[in-house]
Amino acid sequence: MKQLEQLVRPNIWKLAPYSSARDEYSGKQAHVFLDANENPYSMTDNNRYPDPLQRELKVALSKVKGVAPEHIFLGNGSDEAIDLPYRIFCEPGRDNVVAIEPTYGMYRVCADINNVEYRTVKLNESFQFQADQILQACDEHTKLIWFCSPNNPTGNSLDRQEMLHVVERFQGIVIIDEAYIDFSRQQSFRSELATHPNLIVLNTMSKAWALAAIRLGMAFASKEIIDIFNKVKYPYNINRLTQAEAMEALANPYDVDRWVKSILDERVRMMKAFLELPVCQQVYPSDANFFLARMTDAQSIYDYLVDHGIIVRNRSRITLCHNCLRVTIGLKSENNELIAALRQYVQ
Ligand SMILES: *Cc1c(COP(=O)(O)O)cnc(C)c1O
Repeated sequence: MKQLEQLVRPNIWKLAPYSSARDEYSGKQAHVFLDANENPYSMTDNNRYPDPLQRELKVALSKVKGVAPEHIFLGNGSDEAIDLPYRIFCEPGRDNVVAIEPTYGMYRVCADINNVEYRTVKLNESFQFQADQILQACDEHTKLIWFCSPNNPTGNSLDRQEMLHVVERFQGIVIIDEAYIDFSRQQSFRSELATHPNLIVLNTMSKAWALAAIRLGMAFASKEIIDIFNKVKYPYNINRLTQAEAMEALANPYDVDRWVKSILDERVRMMKAFLELPVCQQVYPSDANFFLARMTDAQSIYDYLVDHGIIVRNRSRITLCHNCLRVTIGLKSENNELIAALRQYVQ
């Protein structure tokens, strides 16, 4: 890896962050807070600004994730953790990033917003890649490489060895989005952080943790990288309600285990049911809470399902996903409704 100073945009490296009232006071015992122009009257605790660094929540998360608090950044969804690396590392109009295709659409949207060139390497028929292909797409202006594993919309985990080769050989930053890792038997790359200072791993509370509405995403990385994230983020990016809800959820991790188990059982059942449908040509392996299915005519099946009040994701126009629908695993009753509707479909 290059020196971090060589990778970070000069204006960000030099940035003196905004110092909030709650930043300047920290730790010492105090009981009168007249520093932040808050209103002292309130029925709830919502009159006070929240902890800008979410210290209590990071301690709770560190126990579940096996990563020390100073290696954790919390964002307003993964969305924030996806956008910040562009703003930190990529000089608009000059630098570029490399990603696999197909993959999650937000990496490209954030590249476009930040005026950063987005280069892609097409996956093979098994939705895998080789490290050499990725490295060949890079030049001296490539700052970031994006992986998503398990990948969205394909559902499969990417080859761990190939990803490791890239992490070890690339001079810039490699980001591995593991939004669906809780549904997978693969080992998380969080365990590789100590040995790979150029690695950023993303997780989210939106999928297995069933908290998409509270908007809480995580980035795990070296302390040096996390410090830069914290310098660039909005001061109070995680509101108090979100922090409180997340603390509550982390106190009950066994709910998540039960949900994941039910979803995985249903995934097996649904993939089998799809394979038996005359309109389904192929079901791709999945390590996530959804699967990709190749249909005879994805668009008309999609329209038919919409008419029956059932929404799946039509991925037909995505590279390598011609005639594919992406199906999220729902409640047993919802899954049954989908299958029943598809059995009634006439071509
Ligand atoms: C759903 C998803 C996320 C989660 O995004 P949030 O902003 O945390 O809700 C992140 N990455 C991928 C690949 C996803 O599919």
